[in-house]
Amino acid sequence: MIDLSQYPVVDDHCHPFLPWKEDKEFHQLFNLSTLSIPRVHGENTLLYRKVVKELSRVLNCPFDFDTVVERRKEEYSLDPSGYIERLFKDAKISTLILDTGYPSVEYSGYSVPLEEFRKLVRCSLRCIYRIEPLLFRILQADLTFEEVLDRFMESLERAVKTEGYVGLKSVVAYRVGLRNLKHDENSAREAYRRLRGKDFLRVPSKDRDPKSVEDERVLRGYLLCRALEKSIDLDVPFQIHTGIGDSPQIDVRDSNPLHLHDIIADEDLGKAKLVIVHAGYPYVEEAGYLANNYPNVYIDLSEMFPFIAAGMRDATLRLLYMAPVTKIMYGSDGYKIPELFWISALWGKKAISEALEEFVKSEVIDEDYAYKAGSLILSENAIKLYNI
Ligand SMILES: [Zn+2]
Repeated sequence: MIDLSQYPVVDDHCHPFLPWKEDKEFHQLFNLSTLSIPRVHGENTLLYRKVVKELSRVLNCPFDFDTVVERRKEEYSLDPSGYIERLFKDAKISTLILDTGYPSVEYSGYSVPLEEFRKLVRCSLRCIYRIEPLLFRILQADLTFEEVLDRFMESLERAVKTEGYVGLKSVVAYRVGLRNLKHDENSAREAYRRLRGKDFLRVPSKDRDPKSVEDERVLRGYLLCRALEKSIDLDVPFQIHTGIGDSPQIDVRDSNPLHLHDIIADEDLGKAKLVIVHAGYPYVEEAGYLANNYPNVYIDLSEMFPFIAAGMRDATLRLLYMAPVTKIMYGSDGYKIPELFWISALWGKKAISEALEEFVKSEVIDEDYAYKAGSLILSENAIKLYNI
């Protein structure tokens, strides 16, 4: 039996949170949708049932939804950081690599100061710099194209060199999808000229005229490529959102990582250490293929872990059809509540153990290699790639 439960975990993609910003019923926090999910359905996902079952063990109370949720509320509000520590110790979470771009003032109305989060969470913290909140500020400042570019590049450089961020990140898929993002400077300048002064940043793409959405694709695509070049100069990884996300904001049809082909196969841009965030789920085999065929493509498991719940074992198997174990990194995409970080690590380790056990049984690998692979995925690959 392969058992990775005692292995430490580096969570390479997650978000800072504040207990007093929890704004939904408990069952709704285990669903990526921003729509209102009726309780009868929210309480009947395997993920939610497993969370409540494991919480009843940690909190030492009967497995009954109302009792567990009530006890959790009591203990969390009484001593938030003690409660978080209890969960993180239970799952052996040692380091969080935080995408500090969510929550952000620009999109959520508030951000989480790192010093405040540090007081709450007693484990090692590192940060990833998300480019979209920066673009939000720059693109509404009515600057010339050259000023936009200068300010953008300077901010990225400062983030890594001065502010200590260990990587960059983009969620461009949420705005314009991943198709057709490689554009030259002139097209970007023209697109910006047409967009300048228009209030397009707060309006969802579906409510806008197709021409302005296309301009935004050209502009954002160009800036993404410049940011990728910057990540090569600065020698830091670049995380890119692929696959599932908040519904209905993300159009999953346009977030298949294969759409990044032009960028990944580009002689220069392909030098960026590109981390396919969320393992491209549901395009998991596609992500595995890219990691296999391109030397600088890596895979993060977050959001797929824990949101596909009992499917995590199978998804790990499918990823490993082609992806080298040296390129897969554990992540949770935990946000808003500590339970997401915890259940993802706890159940995720079991899923990875079971997947590796499968390969041992079929004599593909031996037990020693299975443990080595587990350790690479859970912490070693991230420590090396993010240089932490
Ligand atoms: Zn995220």
